[in-house]
Amino acid sequence: MSLPYPARLSLARLPTPLQYLPRASERLGRGHRLWVKRDDLTGAATAGNKLRKLEFIAALARERGCDTLITCGVLQSNHCRATALVAAQLGMRAHLVLRGEAPRRADGNLLLGHLAGARVSCYRRRQYASELPQLLEQWRAHYAERGALAHVIPTGGSDGTGLWGYLAAAEELAADMRAAGIEAAHWVCATGSGGTLAGLSLGAELLAAPATVWGVAVSDDERYFLDKIAEDIRDWYARYRALPGPPQPAIRVIDGYVAPGYGRASPQVFECIARLARLEGLVLDPTYTGKAFHGMLEQMEAGRFAGIEDIVFVHTGGIFGLFPQRDRFAFVREGGHG
Ligand SMILES: *Cc1c(COP(=O)(O)O)cnc(C)c1O
Repeated sequence: MSLPYPARLSLARLPTPLQYLPRASERLGRGHRLWVKRDDLTGAATAGNKLRKLEFIAALARERGCDTLITCGVLQSNHCRATALVAAQLGMRAHLVLRGEAPRRADGNLLLGHLAGARVSCYRRRQYASELPQLLEQWRAHYAERGALAHVIPTGGSDGTGLWGYLAAAEELAADMRAAGIEAAHWVCATGSGGTLAGLSLGAELLAAPATVWGVAVSDDERYFLDKIAEDIRDWYARYRALPGPPQPAIRVIDGYVAPGYGRASPQVFECIARLARLEGLVLDPTYTGKAFHGMLEQMEAGRFAGIEDIVFVHTGGIFGLFPQRDRFAFVREGGHG
């Protein structure tokens, strides 16, 4: 079926490549063939999965006549960095509402946000956790009072509009599979604010793609994602209603890999990142893709993906979040890296 896409800006370099990993398949695959959907290549400084969502979100903001994008996240948020750069690219203002105290020297994503000219407001964890909706509303009203019109984008760009980004990606990936002669596959991604997993799962269902979709949780747990994704799909359905529904795709969440917490990773994750870089020249990040890839390998060993040979890991980006955690890669320099 063809999906009734709403307005969309062309910001990402699409389609992204579907790449086979020969050495990783042989050494780590346990009989599976491992592939990567290179959504880390949607752009350069704007790269990653958030750019796919922003194509639809920024189009909506423009349709509404907005001149400002307000969004929120942690200091090293990939989504906030992408939003700041996209705003600059479109001649709009960006305002980032961030969780955590402003560091003396900005690094990684935060540095890029500053470079793009975004206004940044930092709030302590506790205040951010309890008052985020009010803070966003305060800033929206602040701009309204000054004659500007701001569009507020939720965490990670995950809502009924951002969902279109990964519906389109599901369509793209189904075409990639046909081109590569892959008859059936598991699709595995990291899930943080749920939008990527929501879009891929809904897309696979609507398109009847031969894919079993999994999200490795990197922040919350299965219960959280089931509720969040159901909510995003309801929001999507209420806004666009162009399809019979509302559809209820299967949502598969893999728990057990969040520890020691969102944005922090175990030594095994850092080792997994180093291993993939060396084996395949593929760079993962500690917050999302490294954690998810490590979880995927463990679950593969446990037999979770048995019965389907091909596994496509959706590389959602995140490279700039790697540099602020440079100290955790000391083992690479010491040569203890095998
Ligand atoms: C945001 C992000 C994710 C998670 O995607 P969601 O749609 O928020 O679940 C995964 N990987 C990277 C690099 C991200 O920035």
